[in-house]
Amino acid sequence: MTTVRLGRTELVVGKQSFGCLPIQRITKEEAVALLRRAYDGGINYFDTARAYSDSEEKVGAAFAGMRDKIVISTKTAAVAAEGMWKDLEESLRTLRTDYIDIYQFHNPAFCPKPGGEDGLYEAALEAKRQGKIRHISITNHRLAVAHEAIDSGLYDTLQFPQELELVDKCRAADMGFIAMKALAGGLIRDGLTAAAFMETQPFVVPIWGVQYGWELDQFLTCVKNPPEMTAECQAVIDRDRKELSGDFCRGCGYCMPCPAGIEINNCARMSLMLRRAPAEGWLTPEWQEKMEKIQSCLHCGACMSKCPYGLNTPRLLEENYRDYQQVLARQG
Ligand code: SF4
Ligand code: SF4
Repeated sequence: MTTVRLGRTELVVGKQSFGCLPIQRITKEEAVALLRRAYDGGINYFDTARAYSDSEEKVGAAFAGMRDKIVISTKTAAVAAEGMWKDLEESLRTLRTDYIDIYQFHNPAFCPKPGGEDGLYEAALEAKRQGKIRHISITNHRLAVAHEAIDSGLYDTLQFPQELELVDKCRAADMGFIAMKALAGGLIRDGLTAAAFMETQPFVVPIWGVQYGWELDQFLTCVKNPPEMTAECQAVIDRDRKELSGDFCRGCGYCMPCPAGIEINNCARMSLMLRRAPAEGWLTPEWQEKMEKIQSCLHCGACMSKCPYGLNTPRLLEENYRDYQQVLARQG
């Protein structure tokens, strides 16, 4: 199995790591079985977040009594010290542990630093002193915040969508690089090709969001036989790069809720969904109704101001709506 050293944390984790956001959508029993099967298959690093509803609880239930065998990272979206302490205590309780290996500030709009009015960094330092967390880290979707975090020297790891300039910079700073959205929020369905690409990035740990057994199987195969980049894989990656470049919605949902009730994280990327996954599931009366809601957009701009990718979300929704109507018309 390929392993990766997560920078100065000195934690060594398997190349294939488990992103625990999707297990919110399955039952506790199913999640525990999936997580245990991942561990038995050689996966030893699990990334979750306080904001992922019952994900931490499921991780805690799966690994009770074997804490020392795995590496856990979780996140707090708190914007001040008091909230961070509340989140941390809740994470420790639900994960059934007395320490978190990597404790991450969850996509803050700014880079927490000592002396900030929020008091977040001091709180994390104190939590570290008390042994409740081992490493202080950060996740983000904004390039500027990511650069600031690396330059500050305050963080042991960065979690960010794969971005080569940041990977190089983290390596130089001896920070671990954890790649989120390695499957572009579900738009890349060929996990083996994505994993083959990641094998060419020796300092990066991708966390694969896993919900189904068949998804896990792909990554367990990679644990046993690290995939090689073939000309075929490269062709798939080149095609994905072309299709998934520029103004596409990653489905992260940071722009929500929408006051008009539009399910932006799916509706703003419907054209891609229709072409990259079986289309039927997206053309049901329920989805038609959800897409219709785009017509009631208030153009308030709230979504745009929150999108970390700087997308013009109302325009994107409108484009996706028009395309959707055309696809429906062709279906007759
Ligand atoms: S601009 Fe439209 S889609 Fe965006 S938050 Fe406002 S109502 Fe919702
Ligand atoms: S519009 Fe932006 S914030 Fe909203 S789901 Fe898409 S990528 Fe995320």
